Amino acid sequence: MGLGTYPHAFVTGLGVAATEYLLGAICARPERSQVRTLSGGASRSCSGGTARTIGALYMTPAIGVDIGGTKVLAVRLSATGEVEAWSKLRTPVGAGDVIDTVLVGVAHVAEATGERLGSLPLGVGFPGMLDRNGTAHFCPHLHSVDGMDLRQLLAERRDPSATTVVLNDATAACWAEHSVGAAQGFDDVLMVTLGTGIGGGMVTRGRLLEGAHGFAGEIGHMVIDPHGPPCPCGKRGCWERFASGDGLGRLAREAALAGKLGSAMKRAGDDPDAVRGEHVTEAALDGHPDAQAVMREFAWWLALGLANLSNVLDPSVIVLGGGLIEAEQAVMGPLRDAFANLVEAPEARRIEVVAAQLGEKAGAVGAALLAAQRTG
Ligand SMILES: [Zn+2]
Repeated sequence: MGLGTYPHAFVTGLGVAATEYLLGAICARPERSQVRTLSGGASRSCSGGTARTIGALYMTPAIGVDIGGTKVLAVRLSATGEVEAWSKLRTPVGAGDVIDTVLVGVAHVAEATGERLGSLPLGVGFPGMLDRNGTAHFCPHLHSVDGMDLRQLLAERRDPSATTVVLNDATAACWAEHSVGAAQGFDDVLMVTLGTGIGGGMVTRGRLLEGAHGFAGEIGHMVIDPHGPPCPCGKRGCWERFASGDGLGRLAREAALAGKLGSAMKRAGDDPDAVRGEHVTEAALDGHPDAQAVMREFAWWLALGLANLSNVLDPSVIVLGGGLIEAEQAVMGPLRDAFANLVEAPEARRIEVVAAQLGEKAGAVGAALLAAQRTG
């Protein structure tokens, strides 16, 4: 990804300005190729050395589909892991329509390369909790599929002998970034995607961490303030209520209602209830101290979750999808300081921070890679 382009802005809800603001910190030294060190010694570039290239892979061609809140994105990967064809459809509401739409996407990318619908391995990423058998248990943004055996429903509509894999979309995206994206060459990866909520995926010692039931990675729902704001999951004070794009908007509105965010108020038509994350990030980029204070608060909440996860997982790299923090002076500095105060033994760790590279195709690419790897 070029340093001047921010493809994640489309899918995160943070907006282009916020994404630019956040990624600015990571990319502040262009020669470092998007790598910053969150903890410990000097940063190293991820652009050389141990990185694999996409062309170095050889695998069964496969199809991957990612079900997002608004779109269904399908890709067809070649034997060398390259995206040969892709399709984007609108996400339907009904459960049966979701299955139909997945298969339409599969048909589109299969037809583009002259193949039959059911002949290739298929991986599908869903926005929710999927067990290891492929049954959906909690999909807060796609409730219609809750309780359904998605893997079986898809498999019976295709060639029964073909591999069909279903899994959480952020887990799939993490595997893609580890295999062919920003975290190539790292064996211990934490991926954090900041959108309307927070998604996550983890690789430990080179293996995808899925958990006993397949539910690993629900990092956005770590409760970090039991008296905090309610979350769509039914609990209070989940991490994503503070450190996501929606969380930033909430912090900004609280500041605006308290009369502490005049700079963003102007951008929201002087209506404090209309203040969103993009208003405060734009104001912070323009150098307004009140907006920078809100971004520092946001950075603290982000650091709190990252420190908790680092204490548990001990990653060597954190991949940030969706966007991250402004230039050194606004967020990366406060993030690094807060992280050092919150994590155990920061001086003994070297944790690098990189921006996700695969953008909106990450989930589909990762699902296809896993389906190919689990074939045969
Ligand atoms: Zn929650």
